[in-house]
Amino acid sequence: MDLIYADNNATTQMAPEVLEAMRPYLEGAYGNPSSLHQLGGQAAEAVDQARERVARLVGASPSEILFTSGGTESDNLAILSALAPQSDKNHLVTTAVEHPAVLTLSEHLEDKRGVRVSRVGVAPDGTLAPEAVEKAIDEGTAIVSVMGANNETGVMLPIAAIAAICREHKVLFHTDAVQLAGKAPIDVSKARINFLSLSGHKFHGPKGVGVLYVRKGTRVRPMIRGGSQERKRRAGTENVPAIVGMGMAAELALRDGARQQARLAALRDRLEQGLLAACRHASVNGAGAPRIPNTSNISFPYLEAEAILISLDREGICASSGSACSSGSPEPSHVLRAMRVPYTHARGSIRFSLSRYNTEAEIDRIIAQTPRMIAKLRAITPFKKAESAKRS
Ligand code: PLP
Repeated sequence: MDLIYADNNATTQMAPEVLEAMRPYLEGAYGNPSSLHQLGGQAAEAVDQARERVARLVGASPSEILFTSGGTESDNLAILSALAPQSDKNHLVTTAVEHPAVLTLSEHLEDKRGVRVSRVGVAPDGTLAPEAVEKAIDEGTAIVSVMGANNETGVMLPIAAIAAICREHKVLFHTDAVQLAGKAPIDVSKARINFLSLSGHKFHGPKGVGVLYVRKGTRVRPMIRGGSQERKRRAGTENVPAIVGMGMAAELALRDGARQQARLAALRDRLEQGLLAACRHASVNGAGAPRIPNTSNISFPYLEAEAILISLDREGICASSGSACSSGSPEPSHVLRAMRVPYTHARGSIRFSLSRYNTEAEIDRIIAQTPRMIAKLRAITPFKKAESAKRS
């Protein structure tokens, strides 16, 4: 049975072109970019080229691109750079729907460092009002951190408008754009963004590499000290093969982005229409909101997501119940709770997230197989009772 991989917001398959680009740096071209000999020079050149490629993807200049170990580190570095322990500004404004990379850090800062945190809520469709963010900003605000697109629902947040508000209030702005790369255009030259996080493995690059875009003139306080790599902002020998891979992934995203995005939106729409038509009571979370084109979060009320996922997996379909980090936890997702999705619906929510490697035939197989599984699970759950109780 061929596997259908529909969990691309958790991680993606590496593009063959990425693997090919990395191969020389895993084999003979193993130099350390800091070494003065020719092997070192070759590695340094490869890192420079990757930096240029990522810079082009986001509309930055190469000197504004800092390589990290991934999205989580980039998010931490941005927020911690703005919230220095001795600073008079001690307030973080963020949202209730951020990835744990931001959310858990904000809780830690609140508990252990006495940072004031405002978590702005979202509307039932997952959208965020820029005015609500503006309202939360005060004299003590050091940084606003708002994600570009939500990893669970795909809902896009209005980062350009929020960047403009932050500029007006002279507050730093960070966006976790990990789920935007390759799925929507990103242009830091158009919006006043100070920090922007990316992760290689979310757009067909390798794992363990990320980027923090740092606007020229914005201060970085290093979390990792040591050598003078990354202009002393992030010490440690560069992960050259992974950096090269991320550079190639950026090149591919830039080259095929627009075409792939249109194709993904058509596949996503086909999936949603097919499942909603065949599964009574199913609904799409964030349906009316602007969304990245690859993500569909569907509630199958009165069912348990885990049971659905196991059934899907038996049929060779890989999906997820939301954030990979919260899968396996019995609590419904904090994102769906923030959208006020009823508990009965949030518990049975499945995220399908597609990529350039999914085909129409795969979507049709999901549409053909899922309703049967849902019907079977409903037959053994209290759904019928709940439904008849509602009718009476
Ligand atoms: N931010 C978002 C929105 C994500 O979806 C993820 C990964 O799930 C991360 C940050 C963390 O990225 P990484 O796995 O590279 O640390």
